Amino acid sequence: MGRIDLHLHTTHSDGSLRPADILTLAQKAGVTALAITDHDIMDALPEAIEAGNQLGIEVLPGVEISSFDGKGELHILGYCLNWRDETLQSRLALLRASRHRRNPLIIERLQALGLELTYAEVRALAETESVGRPHIARLLMEKGYVTSAKEAFDRYLAEGRPGYVARELPTPAEAISWIRDAQGVAVLAHPTWVKESDNALPAFVRALKDNGLGGIEVHYSTHTQQQTTRFLELAKQFGLLVTGGSDFHGLTKPDIEVGAGRGNLKVPEQLLAPLKEAAARS
Ligand code: AMP
Ligand code: FE
Ligand code: FE
Ligand code: ZN
Repeated sequence: MGRIDLHLHTTHSDGSLRPADILTLAQKAGVTALAITDHDIMDALPEAIEAGNQLGIEVLPGVEISSFDGKGELHILGYCLNWRDETLQSRLALLRASRHRRNPLIIERLQALGLELTYAEVRALAETESVGRPHIARLLMEKGYVTSAKEAFDRYLAEGRPGYVARELPTPAEAISWIRDAQGVAVLAHPTWVKESDNALPAFVRALKDNGLGGIEVHYSTHTQQQTTRFLELAKQFGLLVTGGSDFHGLTKPDIEVGAGRGNLKVPEQLLAPLKEAAARS
């Protein structure tokens, strides 16, 4: 049985590889279907579909939307959405605009720490409207201030670090409804980010399901076997779809490979049909 990868980032957001290059890597990894899930943008789709057609890899429309639930950030993946939907596109444009309000504030903080960089330099490097902290991390790497994106986050950009500035974010319920309004399926990304106790987790997932959540990203590059089992049980308990992906970003997460994650990720191909069936019903 082949593998799939439903969580990938390209140069259209904070990944460092173009869509066609990711499709080439996917083919080498034996990936038969994938979804590009750039942050707040779906512009990778035409190039990805064209490369997928040439290589015989199915490409699903996807997106990843950051949300804030009062305790922390949660990311909601959207699959099989009508990416031409005007309401969806204007909502994504608003999210990208909030990035452009936030990023210059991060730059100001870094400048106050004595680092020499400008937001114009970040934008030139990013070459996209969906500019994120990983782009700032890459500029810091290029300028020799840090040797890895991880170091940039650990020293400056992560929550609680001196360069951190919060962004205005939708609630998880809003992100879910935006995806559903565009006929997509909403999936909780990297569920270890949920800041609830083990005991409180089921009720939390149930509330998201009541808000329209359709699935959980059970298979993920950094999950331990225990975590995978736990999230699989939760998905079963609440009748949620099981999905999975690498969260490949290229340079800024150099230990993650397309399809294989940290080496032992294998998202089963059988998960694709139920996801597409759910999308067809929505
Ligand atoms: P932003 O969308 O601007 O808030 O940036 C968040 C993004 O930064 C996430 O989606 C990840 O891609 C990336 N990220 C977060 N923490 C790290 C880290 N420690 N190392 C590398 N990338 C990270
Ligand atoms: Fe990212
Ligand atoms: Fe994410
Ligand atoms: Zn992601």
